[in-house]
Amino acid sequence: MLKQATFPGGVHPPDSKEATRDKKIERLALPARVILPLQQHIGAPVKCVVAKGDEVKVGDVLASAGGFISVPLHATLSGKVKAVGSYMHPAGVATEAVVIEGDGEDAWAAGAAAERDWRQIDIDQLRKMIQDAGIVGLGGAAFPTHVKLSPPADKKIDTLLINGAECEPFLNADYRQMLERTEDLIEGIKLVVRILGCERTLVAVEDNKPEALAALDSLLAGEHGIEAAPLKTKYPQGGEKQLVEALTGRQVPSGGLPMDVGCVIQNVSTVLSIYDAVTKGRPLIDKVVTITGAVRNPGNYLVRVGTSVLDVLTQVEGEIPENLGKVIMGGPMMGLALPGLDVPVLKGTNGLVLIERPVPTAVHDTCIRCGGCVDSCPVRLVPCELALYAEHERWDKCREYHVKDCIECGSCSYTCPAGRNLVQLIRYGKYSVINEDRQKKDKK
Ligand code: SF4
Ligand code: SF4
Repeated sequence: MLKQATFPGGVHPPDSKEATRDKKIERLALPARVILPLQQHIGAPVKCVVAKGDEVKVGDVLASAGGFISVPLHATLSGKVKAVGSYMHPAGVATEAVVIEGDGEDAWAAGAAAERDWRQIDIDQLRKMIQDAGIVGLGGAAFPTHVKLSPPADKKIDTLLINGAECEPFLNADYRQMLERTEDLIEGIKLVVRILGCERTLVAVEDNKPEALAALDSLLAGEHGIEAAPLKTKYPQGGEKQLVEALTGRQVPSGGLPMDVGCVIQNVSTVLSIYDAVTKGRPLIDKVVTITGAVRNPGNYLVRVGTSVLDVLTQVEGEIPENLGKVIMGGPMMGLALPGLDVPVLKGTNGLVLIERPVPTAVHDTCIRCGGCVDSCPVRLVPCELALYAEHERWDKCREYHVKDCIECGSCSYTCPAGRNLVQLIRYGKYSVINEDRQKKDKK
């Protein structure tokens, strides 16, 4: 095994993973309906191909890919399309979605769930199967996976990094899959290695998950070019640029991608979805979600994508906790505070963290120039300055201070003794600059 690696900056929030660390993945019962927002990935919008009243089976395409940087959306229940319309998204905006009322039969579309040997399949065909299965990065970014597996000819990829860091506090969805599906994971990694043709693969796991490291180590013994790589437990160790720097010593340039320095990163859940898609013909229809925080039955649950948070919590808890204050989708550092409970679990959902009332609120004060946010920023930005410039809408200065490189990890806000809303302000600056760039491009 390699020496423990890490990156500069970052923070050490309590990992709070004990409640679900040893909980085996349990499959939840099928919901009565699912709400499937059409847009669940970064890239070109999909095109809806179903209408109200259509009968669908699990794995039927509801919306087709809108281009190369796009993936289709599949039915996750068999039943009838009840509506195609505007529904609340977990991000708090109304968005177009397909609603399916289930028939309780879990009938699968023809061709789905067929066994196949990936070693016999042509590489371009493998990429196509991954796109057709609707697979996107499940570590949070939801970028179409087949695109990451199709680097341009001038980008030589020598290293594949498998991201099993799961550095967000509270979450154990990836950890449990590493323990419970180790052989499938390794088979999926070999499949990805075959597509990329890279020489070296490191399966990166933080050292607060020794059982996962040991399981990988024992199965990888004797495997040429694939090894487990322990990482120091530090947030945001699972950030792509941080992982590249920790494990290879290479720095991804400002505005660049890991493939600019010869690396491709795939998250553990994504690799397992690739394996399921290629070897079992199974599109991305369910997700392992850690449910934890102020709950009686914390655990790791396999949930059909599109199940409402209300249905998930009702199944897990029996009833909605009376003193429920907030539900965070994802982890507490980068997750979204949900606008309500009638929003669906998405392809990229890996956790639901419940917080009791009263929800703790920060007291926001002025900056005391302590420099803590600068020390903690893993991207080497100057968060205190960036936040001030964003507050005063100085987009020129935000640009000069590389606001677009912010990975929104929240380490600066976590550190700030003055309780400054740093990440919110910097995010405001980042998307304002991105919008300004887009408008300039459209005018040309
Ligand atoms: S400025 Fe961005 S990248 Fe740096 S610590 Fe804050 S949120 Fe993270
Ligand atoms: S951590 Fe907070 S108080 Fe300290 S320099 Fe940064 S913004 Fe100012």
